[in-house]
Amino acid sequence: MRFPRPCPVCNTPAEEAMLFLEESIDQALLSGFSYASRKEPEYMCHRLVRCPSCELIYASNPPEQAELAQAYHIAEYDSSEEANDAVQCYITAILPILAKLKTKTSVLEIGSGTGVFLELLKNEGFTELVGVEPSSAQ
Ligand SMILES: [Zn+2]
Repeated sequence: MRFPRPCPVCNTPAEEAMLFLEESIDQALLSGFSYASRKEPEYMCHRLVRCPSCELIYASNPPEQAELAQAYHIAEYDSSEEANDAVQCYITAILPILAKLKTKTSVLEIGSGTGVFLELLKNEGFTELVGVEPSSAQ
């Protein structure tokens, strides 16, 4: 059973969060590559909400921890080119947000792959960077 959760950053109650994107997942289309970058089908997501206090966008009803761990553990990986392409999109999207930060010290990236996104964040001034890659794929 999945329950709406409060904001994982500032703990604002779930009832105050605003819908950002409805859940869009077709289980029949999922495969081992579904957690890899730039694989069809793209644009699936869990229900996403925006915290009115800190503006974090997060999954309001995330999968159970064991389910998520298993999905990432068996995730396939076959292309650094596609991962690098995705990272360019991420850094372009996040630069305006980074510009608003008062300090850029620590970063934790879950699903860091080869660490290419962390390298770009290091170039933006972050000094303590940690990446965790739960997939066993090389
Ligand atoms: Zn928040």
